[in-house]
Amino acid sequence: MKLNFLGGASEVGALSMVMHQNDVSLIFDHGLLPDDPPKYPMRPPIVDMGFLSHSHLDHCGMLPSLLRQNDIPILSSHPSVEVAELLLYDSLKIADIEGYPKHYEKIDIKNTKAAFDIVGFNSKRDIGGMEVEVHSAGHIPGSSMFEIKSKEDTLFTGDINTKNTRLLWGSHPVECDNLIMETTYGGENHPEREETEKKFLDKVDETLERGGQVIVPVFAVGRTQEILMLLDDRDYDVWYDGMGRTVSRIYLNHEGFLRSPKKLKKALSNANEVKSPSTRERAKDGEVIVTTSGMVEGGPVLEYLREIRTDPNSSILLTGYQVEGTNGERLLENEMIRDSGATLPVECDIERYDFSAHAGHEELVEFAKGCNPEKIVLCHGDKREEVADDLSEFEIYTPREGEVIEL
Ligand SMILES: [Zn+2]
Ligand SMILES: [Zn+2]
Repeated sequence: MKLNFLGGASEVGALSMVMHQNDVSLIFDHGLLPDDPPKYPMRPPIVDMGFLSHSHLDHCGMLPSLLRQNDIPILSSHPSVEVAELLLYDSLKIADIEGYPKHYEKIDIKNTKAAFDIVGFNSKRDIGGMEVEVHSAGHIPGSSMFEIKSKEDTLFTGDINTKNTRLLWGSHPVECDNLIMETTYGGENHPEREETEKKFLDKVDETLERGGQVIVPVFAVGRTQEILMLLDDRDYDVWYDGMGRTVSRIYLNHEGFLRSPKKLKKALSNANEVKSPSTRERAKDGEVIVTTSGMVEGGPVLEYLREIRTDPNSSILLTGYQVEGTNGERLLENEMIRDSGATLPVECDIERYDFSAHAGHEELVEFAKGCNPEKIVLCHGDKREEVADDLSEFEIYTPREGEVIEL
């Protein structure tokens, strides 16, 4: 079996991997790195079939471009397909606004949608004499790991989380011969989730007691829902805005992919949805505002931030990793934001909480050992060596982008 990463091997972003075995070429994910400007994977060869592990742009962002060159079916789960479509249109819109080169048009997104071949978890498919089994990856709703069964069993993890969250059950190891595993959080461990949740809710309490408001910038996919479910533990006046609204609706339409559809439904109905500009005006007086974007770049978040920027009683609670050069990072490092070309000081309380949906270092190592493979290919991370060090009993591969390896 031959593997070739077209992107996302030695870094988090633009993941794309081609697998060639039994005279069949398969491509796993084809993403972009949403940087300024975005980074893209290498041009794909002719392939027979595609797989999409989940709907984050670093995995799905270049699928329409792949479809331009390869008229192939793409195996994926129902929530992944619907959320990917939403993200792809949004990505095209951003490319327009920012003047980035466009690698596809609306028609290509339509073609991508038509090319999706929907599979559920634990279902099996036959492709060119090989069997594919789909497993839950526990990362975001619908996120899948693909097990390709031929003479040898190969597992492609996509992004994984082995710990339970409010939204999802964690993933479990799958016995295989070859494991191709992400390493986004290689070398780094997450704090205990319960501790993080408590600190977060205590900070909300503290802010409201002193008469401030809380803004929670969130990613639309997974994080909006996780945070709303957490806030539902207490009796706050919560408002939610941005693309997370549509994503929440998609998830509720596919209940089988959630840990507790009932709890998500309850959290959403107890919070106020911002559906119009007039509701947004009312939301500005709310206690807690949960809104995109997670890194305080696009989405309605800046509109809310303008209202509380000079209020030292209010809090901005970041809930995810903040990429360098984003407003999220500016807030954490310099207590500043860039808004319409101006750099402005922010007087609110600024905190960041680790609500990551990725397995941390220890969980990655434990997961890999649980799969009991012979060979492990580490990808999608810039600290692969640290993961490799803790898996020295296995045959480890850390290919570079463009390098062909034979397993
Ligand atoms: Zn992901
Ligand atoms: Zn990823």
